[in-house]
Parts: sequence; C-alpha cells; structure tokens
Amino acid sequence: LEINLNPISEVSAKWSGLLIVLHDITAVRRLERMRSEFVANVSHELKTPIAAVKGFAETLLAGALDDKETARSFLQIIFDESERLNRLIGDILELSKIESKRIPLHFSPVHLQSFIGNCLNVLRSQAMSKEIELQMSVPEDIYMEADEDRLRQILINLLSNGINYTPEGGKVSIRVEHMTGGSDAVESDKVRFTITDTGIGIPKKDIPRIFERFYRVDKARSRSSGGTGLGLSIVKHLVELHKGTIRVESEVGVGSKFIIEMPLIH
Ligand code: ADP
Repeated sequence: LEINLNPISEVSAKWSGLLIVLHDITAVRRLERMRSEFVANVSHELKTPIAAVKGFAETLLAGALDDKETARSFLQIIFDESERLNRLIGDILELSKIESKRIPLHFSPVHLQSFIGNCLNVLRSQAMSKEIELQMSVPEDIYMEADEDRLRQILINLLSNGINYTPEGGKVSIRVEHMTGGSDAVESDKVRFTITDTGIGIPKKDIPRIFERFYRVDKARSRSSGGTGLGLSIVKHLVELHKGTIRVESEVGVGSKFIIEMPLIH
C-alpha cells in the first residue's frame, strides 16, 4: 500500500485539511516480482546448456578429440544442447510476443476433421518410435473459426506432451465435440477438444502450477524428452486469445486429460 498525504489549505483559510490518497500497489509489485523471477529463470535455463556446450568443447580441445568414439559422443551432446538452446530461445520469444499481445490472430473457418488428421500426421513418427497408438474421434461436419497456425500449435503441443509423458505401448487420443449453447443462436456454441493419454499422470499438488512458465513436475524427465517447460504456458495463452478455457484432469500412473473449450465462431 502506498499512502500520499497532501495538506490542503486555502488562502482564505475558510477550510483546510489533509487529502489522503491510498494506492493499492500489490498488483504492480506482483508484476514486478513475476518479471524478475522470469528473468532469473530464463538465465538459469540458458546457463545449463551453455555450460554443457562449453565444458564438452573444452574437454575435446584438451585432448579428447584424439579418441574418435569419445569425440563423437561429446559432439553429439554439443549438438543436442545447441538444439535445446534454439528451442528455448524460440519459446521465450514466442511467449513474450504472445504476452505483449503482439500477435494478431487471423480467423478463418477450419474443417476440424481434416485439420486434426494433418496434426496427427505430423506426430506419427514420434508416436511410432515409442509404439504409441494415436487415435482421433472428430465429427465430419464441424467447422470452427480459428487461427489455423495457432490452433495447430495448441493441439500439437498437447498431443506431443501426451506422447512424451506416456510409456511405450500406450495410447494418445483426441476427441472433438460440438456443444450447443442452449439458445438458438450459434454465437453461444462451443467446441470441446479432449486430449487424453495413458501416461504417467500429474500429481494433484502440481496440477495448479503446470501452466506456469518453466514449471515441471520432473525436471530430468522434461529435459530428457527435450522439453523447455514453456509449452503449456504458450498453449494457455493461445487458448485465451481464442477466448477459450483449458483445464486438466489427471491421475498418477493412469493418465491425463486436457480439456479445451473455445467458441465455435468469433
Ligand atoms: P515441458 O517442455 O517440460 O513438457 P510443458 O509446459 O509442456 O513443459 O509442461 C509442463 C510440465 O507439465 C511438464 O514438465 C510435465 O511435468 C507436465 N506435463 C505436461 N503434459 C503432461 C502429460 N500429458 N502427462 C504428464 N505430465 C505432463
């Protein structure tokens, strides 16, 4: 709380007093704190791969280069960590663009059945390498108004998380439902997307935090699958730009369900 005191006096001295102005600066402070936490997190996230690149390059220069096998495995690490840096920087830029609302959405009618079929095709090889079955259930006749690129980003992110956090032989599916808003007007109609996996699940206590930037239930697992910890915050922002909502239901060891609802038309 910020308090400003201003004495009020009039030349005629007919009346005088004190003007007290109270400013609630909690929100401002919270924003400031979030911003500096973000900068600290970003620096930390960038430091880890840079340290790896530097360390392995140093070891190579110091002589490890002479052993071909060792050299190859160190170079692979350097390559992987550079890729990781690339992804991180890409996601950080993306998030900052979205948060400052510098991305205009381009709405157009999207035929969901063929659109989702294409999204799944992008993920086929990732799923096949883990023998994960991909399934979709999308009615033939639904068109929704959306920004195609952003909708693709939302769905691919969630489906790809489903694959990442599901053990071999599991199943990841996407289901679409048209929900009528009750009145006759289509304006209140919604589309519900449900992305379900048979994966490791998310502990109850972590569920409220998984949309936070850089929040991961298990850092090591996220890293080894190439995660940046920013995917879900980007997804949440993109859903909100479509005036939609996202929520999670999950059980450890059974699987997770991400449910998105967005207006059918804008
Ligand atoms: P990451 O790049 O680490 O996957 P995300 O922002 O996409 O980052 O997700 C944040 C965290 O939420 C993940 O690290 C993981 O712990 C958890 N998570 C996300 N999706 C799933 C899922 N389908 N099953 C289990 N855990 C998940």
